[in-house]
Amino acid sequence: MTKMPHSITPESTPGDDSSRTVSQVDTVKSEPETQDVAMDDAPTPPATEKAKINLEELFDDEDSDGEFASSAPVVKEEDESSQPAPLKISPKSSFSDPEIMRAFYQRLFPFRPLFQWLNHSPAPTPAFAHREFAFTLPNDAYLRYQSFPTADLLRKQCIQMLPSRFEIGPQYSTNPRDRKTVRKASAFRPIMKELVFDIDMTDYDDIRTCCTGASICHKCWSFITMAIKVIDVALREDFGFKHILWVYSGRRGAHAWVCDKRARELDDQKRRSIAGYLELLKGGDNAGKKVNARRPLHPHIERSLAILKEHFQSCILAEQDPWATDAKAAHLLNLIPDTQLRAALQKKWDSSPHRPSAAKWSDIDALAKSGALSKSPKDLVEAKQDIVLEYTYPRLDAEVSKKLNHLLKSPFVIHPGTGRVCVPIDTRRVEEFDPLGVPTVTQLLGEIDAWKGEEGERKVQDWEKTSLKPYVDYFRRFVAGLMEEGKGVKREREEGDAMEF
Ligand SMILES: [Zn+2]
Repeated sequence: MTKMPHSITPESTPGDDSSRTVSQVDTVKSEPETQDVAMDDAPTPPATEKAKINLEELFDDEDSDGEFASSAPVVKEEDESSQPAPLKISPKSSFSDPEIMRAFYQRLFPFRPLFQWLNHSPAPTPAFAHREFAFTLPNDAYLRYQSFPTADLLRKQCIQMLPSRFEIGPQYSTNPRDRKTVRKASAFRPIMKELVFDIDMTDYDDIRTCCTGASICHKCWSFITMAIKVIDVALREDFGFKHILWVYSGRRGAHAWVCDKRARELDDQKRRSIAGYLELLKGGDNAGKKVNARRPLHPHIERSLAILKEHFQSCILAEQDPWATDAKAAHLLNLIPDTQLRAALQKKWDSSPHRPSAAKWSDIDALAKSGALSKSPKDLVEAKQDIVLEYTYPRLDAEVSKKLNHLLKSPFVIHPGTGRVCVPIDTRRVEEFDPLGVPTVTQLLGEIDAWKGEEGERKVQDWEKTSLKPYVDYFRRFVAGLMEEGKGVKREREEGDAMEF
């Protein structure tokens, strides 16, 4: 894919770009230089708040103080978050209203699991403290190089600034907020980040027929499902990665975060190699052949083909019907290497131009068997395999994966265009994931107000009262598995301080 759907241009819809590279400027919108500088360095949290970390409060789930207990001296606004007044959510409430966003960050966003996910151990380390966060503010200003000693301080800044979303970058060699004070530029460099992948429906626009642009439906979501299945198994079986988090991008795509230590430590060159290994389609939107898989098929491609064949029947031939029109059928003919067979097909389809794609696909073998084949049957089998792959194989935005310093939208933020939460996708039930059923922020806040359960001994967190719960639970289990491998958990265990998730 030669186009770069995720490049940031002033015309970009804020919701459409899910990632950015460091080579881009600090703010997205061209702001006057003075404002740029002012925006660049956000208010540093007061020094007093950086103070000691109370581990018990950090990890005691029974705390009475909202999703994330304050480890810092108590501030007034913190009290408000413990028992805010019921929000009046009406059908007219918009998910971008400041009070909606504030309530979301105060009551629903899982800051603590997010902290644990990025920190990999209970006590704050540079893995979290030197992480870059980038905020998109309500006025669309883009605020880079934010960093936070604790999850609580991240939470406070979110509540204060109400970013429409935020992105996560790498851990740097020094605190990103101090980058201008380091003596040598080389002393400030990215050192660690999850290996990430971005799959977006924009890259499927030449083959999807059900929707266009920003819209999606269940039919075209199948492209994303297929991509997740193929990439996930390759990362596990071929690279041995275990901790892979898939996240719905909030509208029409998905991100993968490979969190194994080995993946986090990959340099750019190795990231490029892995992205290259997974890339199969070549060429842009032109009508040319996009897949020329080498024979014998690489085991990864063979395995992918076995997964994708079934989907080709249901999702492509039956639902997308990609060759229904003359012009579209011409592309299919282009992909058939046998001139004699091509001519026979052309003749047949000329007489019934609206034959459905499934029938046209069957025509290929039928006519070949009846003698209209000048090349070998093996050539035809291979050509058909390439066609299946062109229409089903994952289309990755490879640029996102190649750089350690690429920023990617955080899990659990709200997609500014749909109001939906960017929830994790359970790969064991990937076929059941329904992007159109993912809760919106206004829906979730309404669910808190409508909750009729009893508060028992244990305080019920606000997110537990909502349909966000299964997604947060899944994320917490994922993070627990990740931390299991880290030394931090083992040390905690040795000290007899079992982790509760
Ligand atoms: Zn669709």
